[in-house]
Amino acid sequence: MSEKASATLDNLMTENRKFAPSPEFAAQAVAKADKYEAAAADRLGYWADQARSTLTWDKDFTETLDFSDAPFAKWFVGGELNAAYNALDRHVERGIGDRVAIHFEGEPGDQQTITYAELTERVKQAANAFEGLGVKKGDRVAVYLPMIPEAVVTMLACARIGAIHSVVFGGFSAEALRSRIDDAEAKLVVTSDGTWRRGKASSLKDAVDASLEKPGHTVENVVVVQRTGQDIVWNEGLDRWWSDVVDVASKEHTAVPHDSEHPLFILYTSGTTGKPKGILHTTGGYLVQTAVTHRDTFDIHPESDVYWCTADIGWITGHSYVTYAPLVNGSTQLMYEGTPDTPGRDRWASLVEKYGVTVMYTAPTAIRTMMKWGRELVDAHDLSSIRVLGSVGEPINPEAWMWYRDVFGSNAGGGKRRENPAPIVDTWWQTETGAHMIAPLPGVTETKPGSAQVPVPGITVDVVDETGQSVGNGQGGLLVIRDPWPSMARTIWKDPERFKDTYWSRFDGMYFAGDGAKKDDDGDIWLLGRVDDVMNVSGHRLSTTEIESALVSHPAVAEAAVVGAADETTGEAVVAFVILRGEEAAKDTIVEELRAHVGKEIGPIAKPRTILVVPELPKTRSGKIVRRLLKDIAEGRTGGDASTLADQSVMQQITEALKK
Ligand code: ATP
Ligand code: MG
Repeated sequence: MSEKASATLDNLMTENRKFAPSPEFAAQAVAKADKYEAAAADRLGYWADQARSTLTWDKDFTETLDFSDAPFAKWFVGGELNAAYNALDRHVERGIGDRVAIHFEGEPGDQQTITYAELTERVKQAANAFEGLGVKKGDRVAVYLPMIPEAVVTMLACARIGAIHSVVFGGFSAEALRSRIDDAEAKLVVTSDGTWRRGKASSLKDAVDASLEKPGHTVENVVVVQRTGQDIVWNEGLDRWWSDVVDVASKEHTAVPHDSEHPLFILYTSGTTGKPKGILHTTGGYLVQTAVTHRDTFDIHPESDVYWCTADIGWITGHSYVTYAPLVNGSTQLMYEGTPDTPGRDRWASLVEKYGVTVMYTAPTAIRTMMKWGRELVDAHDLSSIRVLGSVGEPINPEAWMWYRDVFGSNAGGGKRRENPAPIVDTWWQTETGAHMIAPLPGVTETKPGSAQVPVPGITVDVVDETGQSVGNGQGGLLVIRDPWPSMARTIWKDPERFKDTYWSRFDGMYFAGDGAKKDDDGDIWLLGRVDDVMNVSGHRLSTTEIESALVSHPAVAEAAVVGAADETTGEAVVAFVILRGEEAAKDTIVEELRAHVGKEIGPIAKPRTILVVPELPKTRSGKIVRRLLKDIAEGRTGGDASTLADQSVMQQITEALKK
């Protein structure tokens, strides 16, 4: 990035609020500052210690890292372990089988309390059932399930027998499912009749049927969980009910050890920037880094915390921080099936209150949606149990961060506010990184609204210029990871060349993340959005994140997405799409007011040329704004690939609204 660009970015960051952990929180925190020192003194030694103290190995590893075939890494070489044993059996063996592993709440309000002992039994049954259907070590299993306990059971049963799961988000189309089944050559599909969404039974099995209609697939069996009881088409010879194969299977099953580098799963990236990549993760390193970061970033005390990650299992957060890490750590978690606005828009707050959730992990999109709905809905509940708040998926706008802290983190129940609000941890990572890479330690780091801040202990993140040189404090550039890390992707499934090209060819010996970032004067890292989304307006490089955050800091704006559209005079021009908060929607002066506001917050160069008020924004299943589709609109194109959108009708809604 040129000097001019850095200077521009320098002017952009005016956020300077800081919040130190309270002495009480710091005193009880599981991760202290000495973790950074230990990792800095001997990085590989640190990871080896973490691996041995966090997991149970059937066979100890002989080498921590083998990167001789870079960029293809091997971690904890020679070690053997079983992921399901680490998540389940060992807790039962050490006498905490009665601890609740999962509090499940369905959208209609049905509940299940599943202890570690019960979950272990269920996984053993599923492992026996899948083996009975001919699934062997190394075979691939496609999982197309909603957020119900069977999803976790299925994933862990695969891990137990060494089968590789490929979870496909339940909201994806039959075609998306089929292409993933084909890519992985899946032998088994596990699905459900449907799931409860907004009070209605919504089908999943239909999409599986449609996806398998065309011959030439590899699927031998489809196991169907009955969740809603809705009518489904039954394919004799292919379909079997979960209750007929799993519930009747033996509860005895011995977990065999797998190599540390045995493949654990394939998962496709969210598809925010284009065609999803089938990321492959393996066993040992993935489990180490997910478990360690879960414990340290969220300050997990397994005996007392009730942890809730709102992510769907269909994306990486649901894999790492729902299925694997919380169970490996022996903690208790809440799992919720449905939508946040059913039966009312306070469903999440009411769940926190009901289960006494202590650690909550969600995405900025959800926080902004709740801001739009209004704080009164949350204030009506007692959220005094909350100790730590996490964010993931997109840069969190400082105003959304402050709202999260005030509304979720300061609620002391009975309408009172807390003296020491819960710390917020903004976690930057990717499907490819497998686990947190940049995040504060809540008992150590002085947090800043909108910044993910510091690499987690044992990780070397940097911001570099176009030639790969580290930028100084106060400067912007490209986010890279300098050293291999335990939970790194091992390859792109069946496409090692694309793995090299996408991540390792931009700079020699460094992982290129594809995100822009800036180091502030303290050296803390601020994520600035995708490198591909950086705009060039009259020679000034502008970050989408910063302009969006400026827009969201205006009281009338609930959400904003900014893109650069081709412009004859300026090269690119800033075009903003905004969703207004309810009461403000009617004002005709709003567009001028917002342009002036951005000018004041950032500078005249960042003033959007066009501001379009829209009812919704196109988002992926994991809640990320898909800016390339908005860029199409801004440049007068239509028909871009919308297949990874969570809601297929959004583009239609936006075009309709803009016609008016
Ligand atoms: P694709 O790679 O297919 O375009 P994707 O990048 O959206 O999809 P994910 O792996 O789910 O797929 O998302 C990782 C990306 O999400 C990061 O590269 C970054 O852009 C963004 N991200 C995640 N967490 C944060 C965060 N805390 N702050 C800023 N950005 C984040
Ligand atoms: Mg990506």
